[in-house]
Amino acid sequence: MRFPLALTVKIARHIIKHKLRGTPKFAMVLQLEPLHTCNLTCTGCGRIREYSTSLKDMVPLEQCLAAAKDCDAPMVSICGGEPLIYPKIEELVAGLREQGRIIYICTNGVFMRKKMREYLAAVYDTANPAFESQLKELLAQSLITEKEAEAIRNADAAAKAKTVIHPSKWHYWNVHVDGLEFTHDLIVEREGVFKECVAAIKMAKILGYQTATNTTVYKETDVQELEDMFKFLSSLNVDGHTISPGYDYDAAKKDMVKRLGKDPKDFFLTRDMTRKKFAKIEEWGRLFTIFGTPVYQEFLAGKRELTCTAWAIPTYNVKGWKAPCYLMTDGHYPTYGEMLGTVKWEKYGVVEGVARDSRCEHCMVHCGYDPSGALSNKPYDSWLNMKYNFGPRPTTYPASPELEKRAFNGVTIGRGHLAEAKAAIQSPAASARGAFSRKDDDHDHASVPTNGGSCGSGDTSQRDDLLAKIKGNGTVTTKAE
Ligand code: SF4
Ligand code: SF4
Repeated sequence: MRFPLALTVKIARHIIKHKLRGTPKFAMVLQLEPLHTCNLTCTGCGRIREYSTSLKDMVPLEQCLAAAKDCDAPMVSICGGEPLIYPKIEELVAGLREQGRIIYICTNGVFMRKKMREYLAAVYDTANPAFESQLKELLAQSLITEKEAEAIRNADAAAKAKTVIHPSKWHYWNVHVDGLEFTHDLIVEREGVFKECVAAIKMAKILGYQTATNTTVYKETDVQELEDMFKFLSSLNVDGHTISPGYDYDAAKKDMVKRLGKDPKDFFLTRDMTRKKFAKIEEWGRLFTIFGTPVYQEFLAGKRELTCTAWAIPTYNVKGWKAPCYLMTDGHYPTYGEMLGTVKWEKYGVVEGVARDSRCEHCMVHCGYDPSGALSNKPYDSWLNMKYNFGPRPTTYPASPELEKRAFNGVTIGRGHLAEAKAAIQSPAASARGAFSRKDDDHDHASVPTNGGSCGSGDTSQRDDLLAKIKGNGTVTTKAE
């Protein structure tokens, strides 16, 4: 079947339980943001901007676990910020598993290999040859170094005792991938991130983890590129994909204008544009393991309307329960119940093509409308969802050097952003810009260290320094070039 049976049954039980009880509103997925600190500063990310004054704050572990119990959603998406920076991420995953939740760790992928090396160090056992053969495979594919392999083999007692993230059918690494190499690195504003994500996914599959990806589609996103991206990710045996249209919610819109000097209209999708971009979403749903209901897919393709059910994917963060939705903030509440009872939900969303709140006008995002498809009371919709979930899993797309070549179309082949930046600075006439470019300081992107470790603290001084050097002499040399 398309998705693991145990997970499908767990979610179905949750919905049936609440429908039998007549619960009017309930949570399906908790978006848990234990912190907003991030090692990247992606174009279009409102999170790190909206919460810029509380970037150092974190939700204590016990409070995170209490929030999951409070809304009792069967699925918890740990996001942020970058959740792998959260000091208690392992304990958080373990605690949520003890509560029986399905867990998605939404990550930009940069720290994944480090976390998996920690797992290997904790479990490596000379008496079990399976671990040594995994190490050999990782070495053969250059996913770890000889030095790292030795550190795993000779882990000390502290490394052995560390709480780690084990492979599990109840847990997914959910890696942020917004396109193939050139586009992705441009959007995350740092070279080498795509390559690191691919390495992390490959390592995760060798070790038996479940992996997923999540992709935001922008106005300039090329549909053919999306198809190539799905083919490539499928060839890596990725277990599922979330895809959602980018939306010009307040925080991201302000950042567009202030920091990048861009008109949000050049970047984010209107409803009409979304429908054009997602015209083939149902075909993608047949060919690839797309998360999200077929009802939501019909909505994205413009075949039907849905009403926003933002209360089903609530967000909890350092300020409390964020309302009305993941994107917009009109207030924070101390409990999920208080948020449900206080927010005037009928003021939001789009009904019969009319926006009840002007900010909702072009929104078709996954976190507002995917649960609408899952919770629909129409028998046809229930049948459609069942058919999709219990249908055969799409076959893996065959890997090929040609597909690999299409995927690595950026810094790996010398078509990096820094090279373009220098060309642009040296020749103003060559600085024709796309919507993913910056206004006056284009392509000041640092590269990701190739050891898969830290790529920065989240401040932009490294990039600003680099920019100054580029402007100064145009001869900066980085690993990425
Ligand atoms: S990885 Fe990018 S999109 Fe995710 S929180 Fe960090 S800056 Fe935002
Ligand atoms: S339609 Fe729903 S999810 Fe979208 S912005 Fe409005 S309240 Fe939020």
